[in-house]
Amino acid sequence: MMIPLSEAQNHVLERVSNLRAMAVPLDECLDLCTSAAIVAEEAIPPFDNTAVDGFAIRTSDLEADPAGTVRLRVAGTVAAGDPPSEIAAPKTALRIMTGAVIPRRADAVVMVEDVIVEGDYITFSSPVSPGDNIRRQGSDITPGSLLFPERTVLRAAHLGVLASVGYAKVPVYRRARVGVISTGSELVDTGRPLNPGEIRDSNRHSLMAILSGAGVEVIDLGVIADDPEALRKAFVSSAADLDAIVTSGGVSVGDFDYTKAVLSEVSGGQMRWMQIAIRPAKPFAFGTIGTTPVFGLPGNPVSAMVSFELFVRPAIKKMHGYLDLHAPSLAATATNGYRRHRDGKTHFVRSLLEVDESGSLQVTSLDKQGSHMLHEMSRSNALAITPDGDGFDAGDRVMVMQLDPLTSRH
Ligand code: AMP
Ligand code: MG
Repeated sequence: MMIPLSEAQNHVLERVSNLRAMAVPLDECLDLCTSAAIVAEEAIPPFDNTAVDGFAIRTSDLEADPAGTVRLRVAGTVAAGDPPSEIAAPKTALRIMTGAVIPRRADAVVMVEDVIVEGDYITFSSPVSPGDNIRRQGSDITPGSLLFPERTVLRAAHLGVLASVGYAKVPVYRRARVGVISTGSELVDTGRPLNPGEIRDSNRHSLMAILSGAGVEVIDLGVIADDPEALRKAFVSSAADLDAIVTSGGVSVGDFDYTKAVLSEVSGGQMRWMQIAIRPAKPFAFGTIGTTPVFGLPGNPVSAMVSFELFVRPAIKKMHGYLDLHAPSLAATATNGYRRHRDGKTHFVRSLLEVDESGSLQVTSLDKQGSHMLHEMSRSNALAITPDGDGFDAGDRVMVMQLDPLTSRH
């Protein structure tokens, strides 16, 4: 009996939990999620400084002399990184470089472009007000302020912010270590010619890559033949050291599809083998060995990748502590028909999602939809979600799952 996609997704998500919280070095935190609220202990900027290259002045010195000109003498230069300086005498200015500390008694900085320099003297070509071009201490971040709430996913700018306030380590949910196995006696890796009946293992390579992109530390567990003893050894020896295992092949209804039988044995009956009302990727197995989740993806290369997106990626996000587990679907206009027949399944149609000149999304189905046709999938960047029924006509609004970056349609 086929079960709805949402039931299978919930089954998985109810059985994975976020990994342990720990302090991780800043530069290893990309795509991880904070396990506590992050509070700033330092101010940004840490001191009043200049936003421009120019001249630090006192606006009270800007009174015209009897001849009617406003002139200041340049008494020195201050660079970024110099210790605090001061304007020591009336009617003097200091040359100052972007990022340098505002000298004591200065209350404005005039841009180089807004003064006329003659020898040691400057005159002004535009009006100046107190505070001009000064970046105040704490104007970006004040000490004690909340930088990020708990469960913020750390991207590049977040890491920059954390560095700017002096965090060497950050409290996060730790990164998952995930092992990848390909199962099948027909599979060989690159490096030698194929014998009759053999094919090359592609799933391990695409799955390892997609896992790295999901922020996981990937462990290559190699190819295992359709042999119950070899499979048992591979699963049992690796499960204890890993946060999850992703395996492909052997979960269907073939005579030598041992993966699901072996997993059911080594998981102590915790393995559930499902037939899901989707195409591709109908067969799927999930269970735990000890506490380690095992994802049994179908062997067909397109199915394996679609199954990854629907089941493994949301589970990894949950392990990493993310709150948003499912990427939102986008609405796009179909440029061609998405014709299908009624079969009780939701179809995930390999498609090209493009942005037209007006900025609108257009989606086009690709020709070869066989679940073994990975080359065609490599041309696609999205899956069009086609519910059970007759499909869509060109011009209809279609919901799509984006997988890879958008391209432009010309
Ligand atoms: P299975 O799920 O084991 O019945 O495999 C379904 C189909 O996918 C068969 O044609 C397999 O040869 C193929 N297949 C299984 N695993 C892989 C793999 N790692 N790389 C490429 N094709 C595979
Ligand atoms: Mg197989």
